Amino acid sequence: MNRPQPVERMVEIIKKLPGVGPKMAERISYHILKMSENEVDRLINSIQKARETIKYCNICYNLSEHDPCLICADATREGDIICVVETPQDLIAVSKAKDYRGFYFVLGGALSPLDAIGPEDIRIDKLIKRLKSGSIKEVIVATDTDSKGEITAVYLAGIIKTLGIKATRLGYGLPVGGDIEYADEVTISRAIAGRTEM
Ligand SMILES: [Zn+2]
Repeated sequence: MNRPQPVERMVEIIKKLPGVGPKMAERISYHILKMSENEVDRLINSIQKARETIKYCNICYNLSEHDPCLICADATREGDIICVVETPQDLIAVSKAKDYRGFYFVLGGALSPLDAIGPEDIRIDKLIKRLKSGSIKEVIVATDTDSKGEITAVYLAGIIKTLGIKATRLGYGLPVGGDIEYADEVTISRAIAGRTEM
């Protein structure tokens, strides 16, 4: 017997979420059907509220309730250093390293020749614009340590150096092939302190 049509539709949509396969999508769907009406309302409202209030910061492209975001609006930060990350989640991980007091830039992905993702598909042009407009002396390239992140880092370092700015890469301690997002505070702090010029 097939699942009822409305459940089928729910499974189809949930299945598209990252890391959720068909089995998990079915589990989540049946769990939602068991939830009270109040709980379902809270789930729906929290998603809608986040979609309505969260926007991109037009300076660093972090997701925030404010534009510019609270980091970009913070005048006590060091204005001559910027840390480039792939995603807003990576920015949150790096920001846990309390000793980093510079600014950020979120690329919105990484270069991936195999997936036909080139420089025009991520915010390379916006980063160049930012680097040209400011008084930035150093760019810390904090892309992931997997192959896409490394390709992106090498590509960025070339551009950054052409602009006469120092390019550095996070130091050892980060797991190779890993996602910055999952690195803990101590590891990130050490990686920033041990950054090396590219
Ligand atoms: Zn910002």
